[in-house]
Amino acid sequence: MPNDMRHLPFWEGFSVTSFQRHADALHLDLEPTPDTPPRCSGCQRVGSPVHEYRWRTLRDLPILGHPVWLRVRLRRVRCPHCGPKQEQVRWLGRYARLTCRLAEAVAHWCSKLPIRHVAALFGLHWDTVRLLERRRLAQQLDALPEPDPRRLVMDEFALYKGHHYATVVMDADTRRVLWVGEGRSREAIRPFFTWLGAARCARIDAVAMDMNTAFDLEVKAHCPQARVVYDLFHVVAKYGREVIDRVRVDEANRLRDDRAARRVIKQSRWLLLRNAENLKNDGQRIRLDELLAANQALATVYVMKAGLKALWGAQTGWAWRRAWKDWLAQARESGIESLARFAKRLSCYWRGILSRVRWPMHTGQLEV
Ligand SMILES: [Zn+2]
Repeated sequence: MPNDMRHLPFWEGFSVTSFQRHADALHLDLEPTPDTPPRCSGCQRVGSPVHEYRWRTLRDLPILGHPVWLRVRLRRVRCPHCGPKQEQVRWLGRYARLTCRLAEAVAHWCSKLPIRHVAALFGLHWDTVRLLERRRLAQQLDALPEPDPRRLVMDEFALYKGHHYATVVMDADTRRVLWVGEGRSREAIRPFFTWLGAARCARIDAVAMDMNTAFDLEVKAHCPQARVVYDLFHVVAKYGREVIDRVRVDEANRLRDDRAARRVIKQSRWLLLRNAENLKNDGQRIRLDELLAANQALATVYVMKAGLKALWGAQTGWAWRRAWKDWLAQARESGIESLARFAKRLSCYWRGILSRVRWPMHTGQLEV
């Protein structure tokens, strides 16, 4: 082994006693330098007699692109205070199979790249990387002050292409994510309230959410002061699916003998669901106007969508109540079955829609 390799500065207190290359990887043996006495990992005392030697195999940062494997000869000391104890090594955790510097590099890259990329980059197992990532996040959370939220936002998102769900809870004011858990049932979100504790639960003023009965009931069970606020984004998305899409399909079926008109309606989905102010050019605007002029049912549900959104903008409880009653009556009298059905179901949730007047918040905060 070249002599200058013996004292590489990477491993304080140890020298390289063997150096080999197998395929692409570098294998190094490290042994304690004689002038560095062991330090007890219990009480930090230096100079106790060596009890025994043990080899530990571990990974370090790659050197010039080559994976690095270390075999380190660690000492156990016979400490007068602590008894037999592992020696303390600054660049190595107590039971770690990775050096501190490798663990730090992995955790750093986890904040920038997907886990599988980081695993490939360092030639580590996916589970190892995931563990380091979790530890990094936990340390970040520990460093923050204890949260004391007044307004919460709860939302669910799909994992694994929609087969499983997770719930996320956020502080609406600090925008800090407070909790993430698997599932979207009452039982699944209960641990969040347990963690928050009765005193902090009692201080919650409002919780924004989708019209999801599970969240709704669980919030009421734990937070006596909290008003539930239903989120405009979710309601409008639901309206698009259950009313606009339904009417569009019905109309296309009704016009099955008029191929040109049928095609116009089948291709109109995007135009109808998009906000009018987001239409890119006059061509799209003219197409939308023509479509609505030619089809009474589509025009009705389109105008009712605007009316629904306006409910979230009401300035006073009184103005809201009037607009809400008008909207429900129009839906009922429209003669459009899916619209009347949607309105009937929505009417059970009126409190959570009215709350929006007092608590202008929405789960869309989670999506920014
Ligand atoms: Zn000790």
